[in-house]
Amino acid sequence: MKILLTGGSGYIGSVTTELLCNDGHEVVVFDNLERGHREAVDPRARLVVGDLREPRPIRETMQAVQPDAVVHFAAYALVGESMQNPLQYFENNVGGGLHLLSALLHTGVKKIIFSSTCATYGEPAVLPMTEDLPQRPTNPYGESKLMLETALRWEQQRRGIQPVFLRYFNACGATEKYGEDHEPETHLIPNVLKVALGQTPAVPVFGDDYPTPDGTCIRDYIHIVDLARAHILALEQDVTGPFNLGTGTGFSVQQVIDACREVTGHDIPVHISPRRPGDPPSLVAGAEKAKRVLGWAPQFAELKTIVRHAWEWHQAHPQGYAGRE
Ligand code: UDP
Repeated sequence: MKILLTGGSGYIGSVTTELLCNDGHEVVVFDNLERGHREAVDPRARLVVGDLREPRPIRETMQAVQPDAVVHFAAYALVGESMQNPLQYFENNVGGGLHLLSALLHTGVKKIIFSSTCATYGEPAVLPMTEDLPQRPTNPYGESKLMLETALRWEQQRRGIQPVFLRYFNACGATEKYGEDHEPETHLIPNVLKVALGQTPAVPVFGDDYPTPDGTCIRDYIHIVDLARAHILALEQDVTGPFNLGTGTGFSVQQVIDACREVTGHDIPVHISPRRPGDPPSLVAGAEKAKRVLGWAPQFAELKTIVRHAWEWHQAHPQGYAGRE
């Protein structure tokens, strides 16, 4: 297949590009390199530098490439930042996404795999979370992803777009080549590993008074390779609609820190900090639909394996991509 992939210089996009190239697919990455890294784009892919917030570059690229399908990652993805600056999220995630949709319609490309999120559900009334739960986001990030899902769904009815919404839980881990490098880093596992690397003195724990067994938030941590594989399965099959992607097991912030202590052998000091606005207490995936319909199954569901892969990558790239030869 010939795939146009937006956001291929980011964390999930880089690994999905790598796996698509491994499988022999032709990949064109469309990316503005604002938050990603040129070094994270697999050299087997072609990189087109462009910004989705402008309508023309993506339309021209789509017309020139004539892909069989699109995989759309390019977006801002931080809950906390979205609470500080909602407009930024709507301009990029919704505005940029609509330019991409318009380019799809203009070129006649039907299939799009959209990088969505469990944040579209907001605070779920029941766990684990299945795809039929109401979507009531509690932050602009989740809302922006839901808005693009909605636009895609209407154009599915109207003009036969074939969208797949992959609603991720917490992406983590690494391949040998590609890992997580954000500036500033806000995600739990890389922040804990920075302490183990001696780059920061302690990791903040954002709230220890949540209604969970140890008082810290519970999330479903899913290996980046398992996430990437779900995209490939969704591309290969004649499917549309939402799929939750998680392991189905939740771990608290405290449990993640303990796993990092075990894997790294460092004692990783913590400091208890105020809650981070917009964080729901517990998010755990019900991913039976992805298993049943896509034939997907996480291969690296063990938290320690995920942490070990992340740790190996961070040790090899202590300064992230900036330190790469
Ligand atoms: N978290 C934390 N300290 C950090 C980073 C994150 O306590 O330095 C918590 C955060 O409040 C949330 C969980 O870890 O409960 C996962 O956060 P992350 O930012 O990794 O992913 P999110 O769930 O926001 O997508």
